Amino acid sequence: MLRRMGMDPVTDTLSGLRDFWQRLLTRPDALMLELGAGGELLVSQMRTLLSMLLLLLPLINVLGGGKLEESMIGLAGAVFALIMSLVWLALARLRGRYRWLPWATATYDVTTTSLVLALLAASSPVIGLNSLVVWVFYLIAICMTALRNDGRLTLYTGVLAITQYTLLSAAIFALVDSRDQLASIDYGTATVGNQLQRLLLMAMVTGIATTIVYRMQRLVDLSGSDSLTGLPNRTWLAHRFPTMLDATRGQGGSLSVCLIDLDYFKRINDELGHHAGDRALRHVVDTLNQRMEEGDWLARLGGEEFALLLPLPIGRGWERLEIMRRAVASQPFVPEHGAEPLRLTFSAGIASWPQDGADLSQLLRKADLRLRHAKLEGRNRVLARDP
Ligand code: GH3
Ligand code: MG
Ligand code: MG
Repeated sequence: MLRRMGMDPVTDTLSGLRDFWQRLLTRPDALMLELGAGGELLVSQMRTLLSMLLLLLPLINVLGGGKLEESMIGLAGAVFALIMSLVWLALARLRGRYRWLPWATATYDVTTTSLVLALLAASSPVIGLNSLVVWVFYLIAICMTALRNDGRLTLYTGVLAITQYTLLSAAIFALVDSRDQLASIDYGTATVGNQLQRLLLMAMVTGIATTIVYRMQRLVDLSGSDSLTGLPNRTWLAHRFPTMLDATRGQGGSLSVCLIDLDYFKRINDELGHHAGDRALRHVVDTLNQRMEEGDWLARLGGEEFALLLPLPIGRGWERLEIMRRAVASQPFVPEHGAEPLRLTFSAGIASWPQDGADLSQLLRKADLRLRHAKLEGRNRVLARDP
């Protein structure tokens, strides 16, 4: 969403905040979820690496003269963590198939941290309250959600970590028999004040991670959209197309790719100037948008060329695009108030999956071939077959 510069600062800040919350609390779009699925895989790989390193701790403990029984308990814990991380990794490799996966893994990361702290507290309350190394895993879990590109997940993880830690800390304080149990030479003294500081730090890290998610979403939006028309661009299409095709394949549906090129557009620029040309482009996009239905996607590939994706077989795709062609031709563009209306037309070629190609570049090549024939045959027409 573009915001005008130079608005009154209070209105500007308020509308910025509104945009921030709206974006964070809504479900990310398909491209963002796909990028998030890549982030989930990265997080799973990091978790597996950390779990492997955890296996070294009991070994170091034994070599350092630690108790064998203690090391065996540590080893059992590390093996459990490794097995779990391998399960999460296998699921993450399926890239976004399970929507609940990031929620489950974030819950697992936070809850495991709480359980380890509870176990430490069972042996010595002050360790459970003051151990920094284990507590830091809450912060790591919150930060790692930023890689999943979903603001709701980051907020959920932050709130879950703060809630679990508050309950754990309150329970430990309630259960200690004497104040002596809250102090040790190695871990210092556990106080309500330092527990509150930790909760504040967790809230701050949640805030920072949430802001990172927001910024990343804005950047992805900007890199995937065209500033003149607000339509998705070629980069967006290239990223999104494989998933759309997978979904079409999974549902046994059809997908038609239409390549649209405006006719004699150079003349508009030559006769009326570039600004009027820009307005003419937006006028055509508005007309096309009015005829779009659920499941259709329009992208600007560059210049006066557009790609329209229709979840239809080639024949019905042709009928839909014919309606759009007639609409554009019958809604002339008025360059400025009182000026002579100008009739704009387009030519288009359609190619459909699977018969015309297996991927986006094959389908676009085929559609381009048909578009060129449409131009040769006199323009203002839609071709769905080779001549
Ligand atoms: P044809 O029917 O053969 O497609 O003729 P054409 O004039 O449309 O063909 P061509 O592709 O040669 O010209 C496209 C023109 O579109 C070139 C450029 O002046 C204009 N154009 C491309 N992008 C923009 C833009 O963002 N704004 C404006 N105003 N004009 C653009
Ligand atoms: Mg062109
Ligand atoms: Mg053209």
